[in-house]
Amino acid sequence: MTGYAVVMPTLGRPCLTRALASLAATSGPPPARIVLVDDRRDGGAPLPVPAALDGRVTVVVAGGLGPAGARNLGWRCTATPWVVFLDDDVLVGAAWRDELAADLAGAPADVAGVQGRVAVPLPGDRRPTDWERNTAGLARARWITADMAYRRAALVEAGGFDERFPRAFREDADLALRVLADGWRLTRGRRRTEHPVRPAGPWVSVRVQAGNADDVLMRRLHGRDWYERAGEVRGRRGRHLAIVGAGAAALALGAAGRRRAAAVAAGLAVAGVAEFAVARVRPGPRTPREIATMLVTSVAIPPAATWHRLRGLVRHRAAAPWPPPPRAVLFDRDGTLVRDVPYNCDPAKVEPMPGAREALDAARALGLRTGVVSNQSGIARGLLTRAQAEAVNRRVEELLGPFDVWEMCPHGPGDGCACRKPAPGMVLTAASRLGAAPHECAVLGDIAADVAAAHAAGARAVLIPTPETLPGERSGTRRATDLRHAIRLLLNSTSTPIWPIE
Ligand SMILES: [Mg+2]
Repeated sequence: MTGYAVVMPTLGRPCLTRALASLAATSGPPPARIVLVDDRRDGGAPLPVPAALDGRVTVVVAGGLGPAGARNLGWRCTATPWVVFLDDDVLVGAAWRDELAADLAGAPADVAGVQGRVAVPLPGDRRPTDWERNTAGLARARWITADMAYRRAALVEAGGFDERFPRAFREDADLALRVLADGWRLTRGRRRTEHPVRPAGPWVSVRVQAGNADDVLMRRLHGRDWYERAGEVRGRRGRHLAIVGAGAAALALGAAGRRRAAAVAAGLAVAGVAEFAVARVRPGPRTPREIATMLVTSVAIPPAATWHRLRGLVRHRAAAPWPPPPRAVLFDRDGTLVRDVPYNCDPAKVEPMPGAREALDAARALGLRTGVVSNQSGIARGLLTRAQAEAVNRRVEELLGPFDVWEMCPHGPGDGCACRKPAPGMVLTAASRLGAAPHECAVLGDIAADVAAAHAAGARAVLIPTPETLPGERSGTRRATDLRHAIRLLLNSTSTPIWPIE
């Protein structure tokens, strides 16, 4: 079975108990870990954990980061190859864990994510309300994190969820579009999950208009055609704007004493609202309560939508790509910074790789911290002494300038240490010594062990292949032609695809 962890952000709502109970009751391989991310702003009672899940649940306190930030905090606590995001108001199916195991086992190496099949149960004895129909849209939505499994390596390379999306809306489509741009594929699995309609007050349809600001960010980041690529329907933005324009014109003309023109403009605004209300009432249950709610909210939605759109235009006018550039770059030594001379103990044989000095000067000039993470198993093998390795390191600094941190693993492959790449030890220590979180670091190296160490630590990676790099190591991560190219990739946040795009 492929190892997986479950990450579930929660506000401690009562539905959490049911969600966890459904997870405990399902058949199949259990998750290595369930990370409950407590995103309540002011704490509260301890989260209820069913006894059946005891020992597997870790509670992490986010304290109001919002869904994107809470999910990032959660998945960065995991170490499994797959991370399954579940909402705290879903009920997983009776065979969910078995179905998940089959979904993940069947995923080819270039598949970054496998979505669950989400069903929204609707009342059978009457037509669904506006809110119920809105929630039912989740069943058709692509890539929603109500039940979405991602490869951890894909999350690391994408920098996780964009934390500028403050509500549970669009942050999942944004991540998916970035992962697809990296050349990965996303597929739909067979596991089934139910997403009940949560209770909501009469003003919920007005409140959700705040999502219009997120749509502005989506367009800024992904271009005008993001709706189509994300499988979303364009809303009534233009019509809302026309209603608001007509209403504003009616007020202005009225104030200017042009009563006839004001009446025409007001008539247009009323007609627009009426058409909108009818379109929302017609498919619904048409009870007096639902009709009254639709009438009142149809007046409020056009100005609310327009206001949130304007707010988004101001807030996101200069939004840069996600993730932000790293704060620190950690270099492999042999084959990356300098030519690989096996078990080199002679400083005279140190020769920088082409463009290394320029790349390092550029990185330092931009304020990036730099470090070296180097396997030196020649020490364990008795082929060179630590002092000789350190003399070689000093020569590297003479030629390439000073590094902020050096981490060297003197162990052999069979020593079982935590530092020898592909283990993450040196990357974690170097990050900590630089005062950076692992996800704020990038590792540049020439073989798969460098990339694996980075991903295991939670750092991004760029592979700079040399003739010695095995062909099988060239996919599954970003690639650069030399160190200068690698630094440019990290700073621009523009991606070379991780997987070849057909
Ligand atoms: Mg190397």
